[in-house]
Amino acid sequence: MTTIQKTLKGLWSLIVGLKVTGKEFCRPWITVHYPRQEVDNLDSYRGHIDLVPLSDNPRVARCIVCRRCEDVCPSSCIRIEGHVPGEEKEDSPRQLLLISNVPLPDSVAREPVHSTDKFLRILDGFTLNYNLCSLCGLCVQTCPVSSLAFSKDVYLASGSRKDFEFDLLKRLRDRAGSARLKKAA
Ligand code: SF4
Ligand code: SF4
Repeated sequence: MTTIQKTLKGLWSLIVGLKVTGKEFCRPWITVHYPRQEVDNLDSYRGHIDLVPLSDNPRVARCIVCRRCEDVCPSSCIRIEGHVPGEEKEDSPRQLLLISNVPLPDSVAREPVHSTDKFLRILDGFTLNYNLCSLCGLCVQTCPVSSLAFSKDVYLASGSRKDFEFDLLKRLRDRAGSARLKKAA
């Protein structure tokens, strides 16, 4: 191949490349210029899990403390604390009766306050270690009362793992508080 042929070939390849670049340059952007802009199509986005409140009380989670989500989570990143009213141990108020008449090994031996397996449990704490979560969704699928949903928290960033250990009960109450303030404004 002569030098002229090589030059023409190189020029043609340059023109083809510029044509592709020019075409893409004129197309509308499909990404946003974060942090100046943020996306608004988060309907199908799966952020970390969050507690869903009762429809008539935004400060109270729908959770019935069945612990199925805690059991099913493959990464052991959920921790739940709760109690049955009347079954609290004075120095350790987090003790639970798993089913009627069957206390946890170290809970206080006393007569059960309920005679059936169906009784009220109070949720005292719900923490998520998002560092470990694989967003598999098993907890959301397993919850019998739809008390878990994926958040739309897309812009999470931190240099500390501690910042990804979430107190979901506190988040629920904070959300309820800010919703009330917005309503009052
Ligand atoms: S989405 Fe999966 S890994 Fe994450 S908390 Fe739920 S069950 Fe665990
Ligand atoms: S599965 Fe649902 S109701 Fe049961 S403990 Fe988890 S969030 Fe609560």
